[in-house]
Amino acid sequence: MLEIKNVSKSYDGIKKACDGINLTIESGDIYGFVGHNGAGKTTLLKSIAGIISFDEGEILVDHKSIKTEPLEVKKIIAYIPDNPDIYETLTGIQYLQLIANVFGIDQHERSRKIDEYATLFELTQVLQQPISSYSHGMKQKLVIISALIHRPKLMLLDEPFVGLDPKASFQLKEIFKSMCQEGTSIFFSTHVLEVVEKLCNKVAIIKQGKIVAQGNTQEIIMNQSLEDIFMEIASEA
Ligand code: ATP
Repeated sequence: MLEIKNVSKSYDGIKKACDGINLTIESGDIYGFVGHNGAGKTTLLKSIAGIISFDEGEILVDHKSIKTEPLEVKKIIAYIPDNPDIYETLTGIQYLQLIANVFGIDQHERSRKIDEYATLFELTQVLQQPISSYSHGMKQKLVIISALIHRPKLMLLDEPFVGLDPKASFQLKEIFKSMCQEGTSIFFSTHVLEVVEKLCNKVAIIKQGKIVAQGNTQEIIMNQSLEDIFMEIASEA
């Protein structure tokens, strides 16, 4: 579903934020992406989503290149940034209608999904209110709903659990599991290693722009914890 081939990106032409990254994500994978602050996670996620360009390499989503077929790729992915900066003057429901229009979701289908997910995330009561009145967590939930209503083949999320209350976090994990059973791939960054251990069948660890471990979570952890592995990698020169 996602093939990242030898991708490098530098912001200043000197230091590489991503350095020769190779990663493959299959249909149905829940792939955790971990690394220290400034390791390059957001840079890679934004490169996959076509928000920033990269200097070298290729990124294919469902065999389509984000460089040469960006619109085709954007039709089948959802990207949820770490900071839900959305149109504050719209109401929640206006924002969801806007996204549904962009993705061409028919009226019946969008109503059904908005009802379902707004109920699940306890947002129904505030959908008529302007986004400017929402808390960080409420904005995060709204952005998540906007991604779910167009059924992406690949979901990219940058620290999706930050700001969510425990119930919403639980619901999001359950949604991830059921989406993956239907073949969606999920690639998300997080600093919460326990979530990766419990939820993700695969994990990649990035350090200073380079992937230093990747693969089946249980094979990487073996009889240790992901925290042990992470600390070992972090201490290596
Ligand atoms: P965090 O866990 O703190 O969110 P991250 O792993 O997502 O970090 P990135 O945001 O991808 O890391 O940053 C990777 C490197 O690129 C860092 O050295 C950072 O300072 C640099 N960087 C990121 N965005 C920019 C930018 N817009 N301009 C210049 N340098 C940048």
